[in-house]
Amino acid sequence: MERIGFWIGGKIVPGESGRTGPVYNPATGEQTHEVDFATPQEVSKAVEAAKEALPGWRATSLSKRADVFFRIRELLEERKTDIARAITLQHGKVLSDAVGEVQRGLENVEYATGIPHLLQGAFSEQVSTGIDVYSIRQPLGVVAGITPFNFPGMVPIWMCANAMACGNTFLLKPSEKDPGPSLVLAELFKDAGIPDGVFNVVHGDKVAVDAILEHPDIAAVSFVGSTPIAKYIYANGTANGKRVQALGGAKNHMIVLPDADIDMVADSAVSAGYGSAGERCMSVSVVTSVGKVSDRVVDAIADRLPKVKVGSGLDPESEMGPLVTREHRDKVASYLDSGSAQGARVITDGREHALYKESPGFFLGLSLMDEVTPQMDAYRDEIFGPVLSVVRADTYDQAVDLVNRNPYGNGVALFTRDGGAARQFIFEVEVGMVGINVPIPVPVAYYSFGGWKGSLFGDSHMYGPEGIRFYTRGKVVTQRWPDPAKSAVDLGFPRTR
Ligand code: NAD
Repeated sequence: MERIGFWIGGKIVPGESGRTGPVYNPATGEQTHEVDFATPQEVSKAVEAAKEALPGWRATSLSKRADVFFRIRELLEERKTDIARAITLQHGKVLSDAVGEVQRGLENVEYATGIPHLLQGAFSEQVSTGIDVYSIRQPLGVVAGITPFNFPGMVPIWMCANAMACGNTFLLKPSEKDPGPSLVLAELFKDAGIPDGVFNVVHGDKVAVDAILEHPDIAAVSFVGSTPIAKYIYANGTANGKRVQALGGAKNHMIVLPDADIDMVADSAVSAGYGSAGERCMSVSVVTSVGKVSDRVVDAIADRLPKVKVGSGLDPESEMGPLVTREHRDKVASYLDSGSAQGARVITDGREHALYKESPGFFLGLSLMDEVTPQMDAYRDEIFGPVLSVVRADTYDQAVDLVNRNPYGNGVALFTRDGGAARQFIFEVEVGMVGINVPIPVPVAYYSFGGWKGSLFGDSHMYGPEGIRFYTRGKVVTQRWPDPAKSAVDLGFPRTR
């Protein structure tokens, strides 16, 4: 069985502990690799490499750092399909979707090419006689990123592009379920001119994560994953004195007002609900239709489901691939049983799909449940699969209340033709990323990405301006160039007037 090792100091380093995890091709169900799990000593080795590379990288001029990011951008563009293929083989998403993931990562690299501008400080001349003050932002040191399975290319880039551009060195701990793309990225960074030790990768489970959280030489941790682990990372990372941003899970609602165009609503709900087999943190998982429009919304969505082609991500005809593992697929499917037992109406059961019944791959067909209520497990849990729930509301107020009472607050969408209603919604909805007639409102790279409530622990959103702030700390310099002849002792507190 082929092994997946670490990337330390610019080269592949095999794990030595003998602890490993299986990696599958979700479309065939076959195990294709064993990934090495790092011990705390191996994590320390990677941190040492990052520490060693830090002084040189920190001192590299902004123009040279920007040059490297321009080269990364070119190589990402050139190798987009290879990276996407590496993603599809271990995650399962269809190739076109994996290319889209790389493209959204690339946007963050483009943002990082502007680092000379992004790190500009402020300068105040003559704050007192002969005294100037200026502020600068400097890197934190060695920083780490811990990432989820669902975006094995994009989310690491969300973190490491800004972190490295700011002058930090980086340690990535990607998901052990699809670790392959991290090494494809590592090679690309090296080819683009990232010096050895500036970008490192270790794989593993809780043991490697705890070693990162406890390591005294790691200054900050960025995390993206499920809410219980995000909470754990935030509590333990900050208890160890680190700066932490921990993005968690989601339950994204799409509210449909009665004036919305039903065909557009159904197209958007199907695209955003089942794209990437529902394994996106910004997937729509609940459609909340308001008033008498509900029957038409459910019918229009149900009509579209049989037309979506499910199959291997490498088949250019496929629109939706398998789920990441068999266990995850079975857990997702179990919500159809619990939903039905708790009173929901299963309109389309993905277990009827031929690939669910016959393929050894981890397939589940598109599933739709109507008359779901907030008390049901299917509503309370983040399903993270191709199961869309419809929760009916009588009024706009009920729909907004449902969203605001939900413990998650990642993304939300409103579909309407009424600008006044949309404006009111933006004003009062308690969610970090809002789409108006846009079902997956992932911000572009020059804004920042982050949810509210149980979808984010810490005060910094990811990438964009907040990413630059997260990966740097401020320093304020007060300086004068006095005439030594006028020097005198003065025990008073420094005055400006
Ligand atoms: P996960 O929380 O299981 O794993 C995320 C990372 O944490 C992985 O690297 C994993 O190895 C590590 N981890 C897992 N269990 C751990 C433990 N007990 N102790 C320490 N570390 C542990 O998440 P996942 O299943 O890989 O990804 C899906 C989740 O990520 C969903 O909840 C999804 O909503 C969320 N997500 C959120 C965003 C966002 O931006 N808010 C983006 C993508 C994914």
